Amino acid sequence: MAADRTILHCDCNGYYASVECLFRPELREVPMAVCGDPDSRHGIILAKNELAKRYGVVTAETIWQAKRKCPELTLVAPHHDAYSRISKQINEIYGQYTDRVEAFSIDESWLDVTGSLHLFGTGRQIADELRRRIREEIGVTISVGVSFNKVFAKLGSDYKKPDATTEITRENYRDILFPLPVRDMIFIGHRAAETLQKVGVKTIGDLAGTEMEKLTALLGKAGQTMWRYANGLDDAPVLRPDEQEAAKSIGNGITFAHNLETEQDVRAGILALADTVGRRLRRHKVKCTVVQLQIKDPDLKVISRQRSLERPTDLSGEIAREAMELLCEAWPKGKPIRMMSVTGAGLVGEGAAEQLNLFDSGEDRARRGQLEQALDAIEGRFGRGTVRRGSLLNSDIMSDRKRPGEDR
Ligand SMILES: [Mg+2]
Repeated sequence: MAADRTILHCDCNGYYASVECLFRPELREVPMAVCGDPDSRHGIILAKNELAKRYGVVTAETIWQAKRKCPELTLVAPHHDAYSRISKQINEIYGQYTDRVEAFSIDESWLDVTGSLHLFGTGRQIADELRRRIREEIGVTISVGVSFNKVFAKLGSDYKKPDATTEITRENYRDILFPLPVRDMIFIGHRAAETLQKVGVKTIGDLAGTEMEKLTALLGKAGQTMWRYANGLDDAPVLRPDEQEAAKSIGNGITFAHNLETEQDVRAGILALADTVGRRLRRHKVKCTVVQLQIKDPDLKVISRQRSLERPTDLSGEIAREAMELLCEAWPKGKPIRMMSVTGAGLVGEGAAEQLNLFDSGEDRARRGQLEQALDAIEGRFGRGTVRRGSLLNSDIMSDRKRPGEDR
């Protein structure tokens, strides 16, 4: 077995509020919160300082709820530019200890320091030094988790706040993490936690001790991932920024209830997949520059094909067209298809790298974009499946499909 990695997860404490206090130190002395729209009772609390926390003010509640707990709460509008700027400075300090710095959000990053231990000391020493430096040089406090994988490092940084280091080792992880609720683990959302609760899985220890097959039956592939995480088997690498870009993709796959054979069925399958991919790209406000297609025949033989696009897209119709062309090139007509996935990769931010294409009128594209957004909105209101697009109307191949696991 390869030697364990040393991974840090660094999390700024009450980040937005801390940054506001940097510019207005007097805010440290009063209970204060950063909120979306300070003038509206319905504005949402985005962050609060330690004093406000003592009154029970919590993130994501409304101003109205927070004011009931703490009438003298000082409200501040957010300054997102400052949050980004200071986040960059903090990550630059992390970058002095390793090139493997993966930002998870504006105020959280993983660092893989395995390769630099001989230069800077143990994981804990590096964590303590980072806490001191960020406090002294930037003026905000961070909590750091140190562990042998990313999931446990993140649980470590959550474990003790503010301004603390928590080490999760192979020796102590059961004692420290197993009593925690499953909801504390990364990627376990409200819904999954509810599902787990129903079968008596309440803590991370419960999760680790449940048969993986049972979890898979309950939650699909995600169940298997959760089981691995709970047992300390997460082996995902800490990605450098260039690797993060390359790894980003949004995809969707289906194992069909019966093999697809006619061109009409295949086309309907691709449209349905491209439809969800496009919808998710738009929801995340990104476009893809690469379309990937994967197909499995009934003997489980797999082919994968991909192509780069002339310009980034988030339109389901364009993704479907590319996927269909890939299919025609790579798959003999009439050969049965058991499983198919369509993925948009090489993601770029909305509007980024968009090039003018002289052969397709921009107006035309805009209109299609508006149409698809409108359909998304309708489905958002009335639920999935309300809108059936194009040739999906006359096909029932999707009706009894297996639910694909959430693949992000
Ligand atoms: Mg934080």
